[in-house]
Amino acid sequence: MRLEQFGWSDFFAQQRAVGVPARVAAASHEQMVVWTEGGEVHAKPSGALRYGSPLWPAVGDWVMLREDKPLIERVLERRTTLSRRQPGRAASEQVLAANVDVLFIVSGLDRDYNPRRLERFLVLARESGARPVILLNKADLAVELGFDLEEVVERTRALAREATVLPLSAMTDSSLGTLVAEVAPGETAAMIGSSGVGKSTILNRLLGTWLQLTSAVRAGDDRGRHTTTARELFMLPGGSLLIDMPGLREVQLWAGEEAVDAGFREIQELAASCRFRDCRHLGEPGCAVMSSGLDATRLANYHKMRRELEFLERKSDPELERQTRAKWKAIHKAQRHSKRDW
Ligand code: GDP
Repeated sequence: MRLEQFGWSDFFAQQRAVGVPARVAAASHEQMVVWTEGGEVHAKPSGALRYGSPLWPAVGDWVMLREDKPLIERVLERRTTLSRRQPGRAASEQVLAANVDVLFIVSGLDRDYNPRRLERFLVLARESGARPVILLNKADLAVELGFDLEEVVERTRALAREATVLPLSAMTDSSLGTLVAEVAPGETAAMIGSSGVGKSTILNRLLGTWLQLTSAVRAGDDRGRHTTTARELFMLPGGSLLIDMPGLREVQLWAGEEAVDAGFREIQELAASCRFRDCRHLGEPGCAVMSSGLDATRLANYHKMRRELEFLERKSDPELERQTRAKWKAIHKAQRHSKRDW
């Protein structure tokens, strides 16, 4: 296999160092499965990487292996990084996938259809640098569930703006050609969405073709071992690649303000007409956003995501965090005093 078949390009070639270039096909704690020109290899991060690198290998990464041992010594700079905030309280980043060109945001047209979740995934995609494509799966259920497919697609297009929106039926549509056509040969797509939206079904429909290709990779594996870590990177017909991510229950943002604002351009445009320049669109007098008739749930979602970003900003800026704590302490103290006076 040639490296270009796994997505190698000039961007990575320029960073090539001593050792063997490889792409991470699966990553689970310390266990990695990587693809090299010679085949699939089980590898581990080296001590130097563990203690000296700001980057930890994620699926999709390009890495350099030692010549003599399957140890990952370096992670090459990423072209794109798909991240979320690590679930739990800490404000830290969890990289879901690296070097993704196209992000397929999969939504089921049954109970799963949720415009607010789509808005959130779109922010994630924008922040990552990947092109978002929304797949509205289970389109075959339109009649049974009594929804107007065209209307839902139009509504989603209005919300998604520059993102492509494709209705799909993984169960009945024998050709997933429209999906595959979105990704050029050598490019990498990733599939993200809640559990049950049909990600595995979509993958399985492509199975016939990529089974042959992946077994070719296996044949080149001189260790002849079987993968214990579930592989997440697959080759698609036509020469593109696909990263399958498990269903994510929680998608907290790891993003900057611009990524959120870009998803809500109309709010920025309307804000120019608000009476106050620093209007937060939370009920101030003369607020052009509130009086525009904008969908209240969309506006609430915008506020929610902005609050998440403010939290992240505070956590990464100790001085801001201290000021916020001091402010709330003063407010609570004042409240206690006023209760006592009462
Ligand atoms: P995943 O959790 O995202 O991988 O979802 P699955 O691929 O396991 O699909 C969840 C359920 O939805 C399964 O029962 C599938 O048979 C069903 N499903 C997937 N795609 C479609 C579709 O296009 N139409 C219909 N009607 N059902 C689908």
